Amino acid sequence: MDIQVGDILKMKKQHPCGSVEWEVLRIGADFRLKCAGCGHQIMIPRVKAEKNVKAVRRE
Ligand SMILES: [Zn+2]
Repeated sequence: MDIQVGDILKMKKQHPCGSVEWEVLRIGADFRLKCAGCGHQIMIPRVKAEKNVKAVRRE
């Protein structure tokens, strides 16, 4: 899956704040993602992130 820093990931699962969009801050074995709704940051394993991605938006 082609994901770059700065991309917006639209996820299948919704964050508790109601947003489904996450900005990619860092890429490696883990992704660092920032919720577009509330600004919360998470680290999740790349495999898990890719499984949960519905669409990738590049601005
Ligand atoms: Zn959120």
